[in-house]
Amino acid sequence: MPKTARAAIYEAPNEPFIVKEYPLRAAAPGEALVRITMSTICRSDIHSYQGHRPNPCPCILGHEIVGVLEELGDGVDTDLRGDALKSGDRVTWTEYFHDGPAPESDLLDMPQKAKGVRKYGHDRADIDPHFLGGFAEYCYIQPGTGILKLPDALTDAEATPLNCGVATMMAVTEAAGIGMGDVVAVQGLGLLGLYGAAIAKARGAAKVIALDAVADRLERAKAFGADDVLDIGGLDAGRQAEMVRERAGRDGADAVIEVCGHPSAVAAGFGMLRTGGRYVVAGLVNPNAMVEIDGNLILRKCLNITGVHNYHPRHLVQALDFVVANKDRYPFDGLVDGRYGLDDLDRAFAEAAERKVLRAAILP
Ligand SMILES: [Zn+2]
Repeated sequence: MPKTARAAIYEAPNEPFIVKEYPLRAAAPGEALVRITMSTICRSDIHSYQGHRPNPCPCILGHEIVGVLEELGDGVDTDLRGDALKSGDRVTWTEYFHDGPAPESDLLDMPQKAKGVRKYGHDRADIDPHFLGGFAEYCYIQPGTGILKLPDALTDAEATPLNCGVATMMAVTEAAGIGMGDVVAVQGLGLLGLYGAAIAKARGAAKVIALDAVADRLERAKAFGADDVLDIGGLDAGRQAEMVRERAGRDGADAVIEVCGHPSAVAAGFGMLRTGGRYVVAGLVNPNAMVEIDGNLILRKCLNITGVHNYHPRHLVQALDFVVANKDRYPFDGLVDGRYGLDDLDRAFAEAAERKVLRAAILP
């Protein structure tokens, strides 16, 4: 292990990243040291970088990370499945960690919502252990993290989005109760929407209707399981709902998934649902996403509404199994369409923010 390693440091919103070196030390009990092989820029990293949400500085951003175990601290013996871990194994891990008991974990089965939960890419870099984010050469996996061994069959590009986008969509599609023969509408075709369409098909959906206002996103969705696409550009909520109900070929969609981040999508989505339909909000990640809806519709149509934020560790295992099983069916590898070095993080963030690339990968 080298004595120091490099990291691209986020000093302040919208300021250039500064590459710095920090000391590496042996993994403490419960920790594991990983040599990062790839990390990707998530939309939430961009929100942090642009100052839309609070994040401590200086910080190593990035939570979608894969790498090779370099050193395992005492007590780190097995992954989430119970398989033995050793140095040299390629791994992914939950984007969050929480050590010790918490009622949210123990009683509610939501460790992702435990008080005091921390996430990779959200800690100060100038204090030990320094390396707790993705845009660096190394990362210390912390106690209370779910580690998952990766099979050789997956490329880094297929594996890196697992612990954020794919695992989240496992949780979302589970919450939407998608089952055999369902008609599912997906609002928003960024990375989450594309995985959502593909996972909905894998769960047995008979028809996935994909909605966006950007032509090439609609086109791409067809390769990820969308049976029908609808350009919602210029359509009001009522017209969107009407057109989805027509396409659903029945009373309406069984489930609608919001991953577009626009509050106005909620009213449109309610209108798309059949009686007793299920709506999942997963894209309204920023506060003050005010929604105006007719509450009577919820009652009259007996709607089920769920919010999903992050995921349970089981969803990471399911995400991996889903991508392994479907990697020849859907072009997951191509979703990571930009590659940059650590010294090029400014350009990577700029191009990701401008959506010149769908997923920018950093290869330290
Ligand atoms: Zn993310």
